[in-house]
Amino acid sequence: METAAVHSPLEAFVRDYVDVTGGVWDEIEPQVYDLLLPAEDAGAETSRSVDGREIVRVAFDPEAIPEHPAAQLVSFGTPLMDRLFADAMQRGRFARMYIVGLNLTPHDLAGRMHRAFTMPADARLHVERVRPLSFPQAIFWLQGTFVSDQKEQEIVPIALDLHYGRQVRHLDALLDHARLSETPGLPLLEARHMSLASAYPLAREQALRTVASLANARHRQQTDHTERQIARMNRYYADLLHELQEQIQRATDRGDDTGKFAGRREALEREEKVRVAELRQKSSLQVQVRLLNVLVIQQAKLLIQAMVRTDRANVEPLELVWDPLTESLEAALCLQCQRPTFAFARTRLGRLACQDCVSHTPVPGRQSRR
Ligand SMILES: [Zn+2]
Repeated sequence: METAAVHSPLEAFVRDYVDVTGGVWDEIEPQVYDLLLPAEDAGAETSRSVDGREIVRVAFDPEAIPEHPAAQLVSFGTPLMDRLFADAMQRGRFARMYIVGLNLTPHDLAGRMHRAFTMPADARLHVERVRPLSFPQAIFWLQGTFVSDQKEQEIVPIALDLHYGRQVRHLDALLDHARLSETPGLPLLEARHMSLASAYPLAREQALRTVASLANARHRQQTDHTERQIARMNRYYADLLHELQEQIQRATDRGDDTGKFAGRREALEREEKVRVAELRQKSSLQVQVRLLNVLVIQQAKLLIQAMVRTDRANVEPLELVWDPLTESLEAALCLQCQRPTFAFARTRLGRLACQDCVSHTPVPGRQSRR
């Protein structure tokens, strides 16, 4: 009878990794394996090979090492694991997935539109045409590395809707495994969208804000710690200098030569300067940011061509988007400034625009003054 063994996340990762990369693992005893890895993944320290591929014996349990002296102990931060992680990341550098199973016929879309958007009193919103299209959304995982006297890393995921170029907050819903598929559910045309290359600087800018605030918090902590260490160091040297002063005093009282003490004092002062400088040096924080992975998620949304009609008989087209994942309408673009808005009003020139534009539109015939 086989008992279901519970594997640590690291052990589970190694088993999955070897399976996915076409290698073979053989569990010799609990937590001890022979791994047949692709040749480029195995280190030079391995001794056996099959068809150019390397066999590595590994152990996840330190207590197994004495019995298997040839085995490498596997834990986070070992060269073997660093190589496997780097390779796994390289393989998943870019991927495309599809969200399937969404309801593309929402109940009472017109009513939802009227509730979601504020319109001028004399305006009415009409739906002209509704089309399901595939909207690409990109998730960028960026890694911030903070190096001071220790090294720490944080991964910052940023999701962008490539249609509007806006940040998407419902990352968990986008990444819900239950809805993700490697093949599209429906063959849909793609909505108008920006390229990944032009989205990346936007994602990076967002990520940098997060990384900068993390860096500031770390730097403050580090600086406080360093200042306390320096204060302690200053007290230590002050004590030493005080002792030296007493020795000089006693020597003077005895009528001894005090010339040899001058060198001691200088040496102590020099040493203190060096050690304080070292502490400051160690407390400097370096930050690097790099892109790890990109996942494009194609999701069906409804593109709604609407018309805003008024009593004055002018008609303005308005494009809206229904997101069936969040079951909500997305903010529309202001016809004047192209910024997202849910509230439209009429400018003094009679045009439909967001509240901001309306409050800043100059009165006709008058110069705007700033
Ligand atoms: Zn506007």
